[in-house]
Amino acid sequence: MEKIGCINRAGIRSVVMTTVSGKNIDEVPGIIDAVVAAGANVFAFARYCPTSGEKDTGIAPLRYRQLLADCDKKFKEYEAAGCTTYFNKKDHLWTLYEYETGAFTLDGVYEDGMIYGGCNCGNCHLTILPTGDVYACRRVQNSRVGNVFEDRLADVWVCQMEQYRDYARFAKCSKCELLAFCRGCPAVASGKSGDFYAADPQCWKEVI
Ligand code: SF4
Ligand code: SF4
Repeated sequence: MEKIGCINRAGIRSVVMTTVSGKNIDEVPGIIDAVVAAGANVFAFARYCPTSGEKDTGIAPLRYRQLLADCDKKFKEYEAAGCTTYFNKKDHLWTLYEYETGAFTLDGVYEDGMIYGGCNCGNCHLTILPTGDVYACRRVQNSRVGNVFEDRLADVWVCQMEQYRDYARFAKCSKCELLAFCRGCPAVASGKSGDFYAADPQCWKEVI
């Protein structure tokens, strides 16, 4: 944090990312104040993704919604005051929150079967490690799909990645009107249950 001024003066964009879990969720509003005071150019947070012994981020769905509401209020107050920090609403559950509050609507022409936003896994990113290993998403456990020293990236993208594009398999999202825009974070779901297509543990939406 103390180097943010130095980074800014060097013309480098300063970005602060916070990982949120049940351990630190109460501290997030204070972290935002500290990041703004330090002059960071960008602030965002994402949820802790359990990948080892523990299986839970430790956040009840409605507690997470409350965090988004508290942050939304704080972001708006800072923006109204001319704050230069850009608040990146990275977690796709922001789409659900903004859908409920009216900031995001489904007005417009949307084609059935088209994916317009939400989780990037399978539609616009890959992770390549220094070893050459290719992962569908850096946060999805066991999502290795190839290695750039052995496989043609285009083939990996077209073939192995297909297993992450089975949108009808999303246990909860497939029945939700926000399927094409959200899908929560399958890495968090997968960290909990091992199933990429399981329900996002912090999604508070009731889907019938
Ligand atoms: S059910 Fe899925 S698509 Fe719908 S709001 Fe929850 S995470 Fe998003
Ligand atoms: S699984 Fe989660 S971290 Fe990975 S691309 Fe999707 S939303 Fe992002």
